[in-house]
Amino acid sequence: MGNILAFCEFQDAALRISALSNIAFARTAAAAHGGEVIALLVGAGAQAASAGAAKYAGKVIVVEDGALPHYLAETYAPIVARLAKENGATVVTATATALGKDLIPRVAALLDAGMASDIKEMKGTKEFVRPILAGNAYSTVEITTPIVCVTVRQSEFESAAELGAAGAVTTAAAGTVDALGATFEKLDATKSDRPDLGDAKVVVAGGRGMKNGENFKVLEQLADLLGAAMGASRAATDAGMVPADWQVGQTGKIVAPNLYFAVAISGAIQHLAGMKGSKTIVAINKNKDEPIFQVADYGLVMEWEKAVPELISEIKKLKATR
Ligand SMILES: Cc1cc2nc3c(=O)[nH]c(=O)nc-3n(C[C@H](O)[C@H](O)[C@H](O)COP(=O)(O)OP(=O)(O)OC[C@H]3O[C@@H](n4cnc5c(N)ncnc54)[C@H](O)[C@@H]3O)c2cc1C
Repeated sequence: MGNILAFCEFQDAALRISALSNIAFARTAAAAHGGEVIALLVGAGAQAASAGAAKYAGKVIVVEDGALPHYLAETYAPIVARLAKENGATVVTATATALGKDLIPRVAALLDAGMASDIKEMKGTKEFVRPILAGNAYSTVEITTPIVCVTVRQSEFESAAELGAAGAVTTAAAGTVDALGATFEKLDATKSDRPDLGDAKVVVAGGRGMKNGENFKVLEQLADLLGAAMGASRAATDAGMVPADWQVGQTGKIVAPNLYFAVAISGAIQHLAGMKGSKTIVAINKNKDEPIFQVADYGLVMEWEKAVPELISEIKKLKATR
């Protein structure tokens, strides 16, 4: 028997949508381990986000301290590891976001725990299925340490639904905060009114075939009409057409929106690894033989220069009638 400590990311006083996949996994793990889900919120704004978190977990622990103004793996990991021990956790989990992938291995090291990253499924209590070879195959790993640390692939776990009654919120001290010489310099995030790529329900992504950054503006128009986040292939981000944090794929972000537009993207396995969990995929490409059409639910063989403006015009007409 053991509890599941789910490290949850939040923004603007609410859990990130990606955190709800983590909680969904944590509930499955709690049932298997005979324990309860404890959501852990750490850092500036944790208290404000706790009421939202309590809708999803029976217990919420908040750690907010002036010594934790920004995320650093060095300062957060000892807190997570200590609270895992204090709360009888047999599984420590986070979503496999950039932050989760940065934090949890360090927590595992501090707990002397085995680690499975990017998991898509749990079998029994200690076996985890995770993708290998850019998502072309899956391996099952068994972890035999008393505590197990995992990061959860957002696209594989449906967002948890709210519980009937709100959970209990408690606070915990940060303890001694030592950044081990690391310092937070600055957050270089792209400012945008669009939803976060990892949380968005609709994503409009462009590839090398967009040819330059200026041309992405037409995709941005489409995105804004649909309330979508912008994404891109690595070829487009590497070429400097669009910001690096738009990259979707094996070495970029893993996304699982309801609707994913792949425009002028060939569908290399490394790109598919990041988006093939999307519920509906629409591909627009001038070459009918591209692999993107093998995963697309709707495919349009056409030059984007013609297809996207037409699409925008039709959506505008439709919106005007509603
Ligand atoms: C270790 C490793 C990790 C990688 N990680 C990632 C990753 O995370 N994400 C990622 O995306 N890639 C990744 N890659 C790169 C990946 O292999 C591909 O090179 C990349 O995804 C290709 O991007 P693309 O589809 O935009 O470009 P291309 O493969 O060049 O495709 C461009 C497409 O645009 C179409 N096109 C051209 N003009 C038009 C037009 N006018 N209208 C319509 N269609 C048009 C073409 O038909 C073509 O299909 C990785 C590679 C390696 C080796």
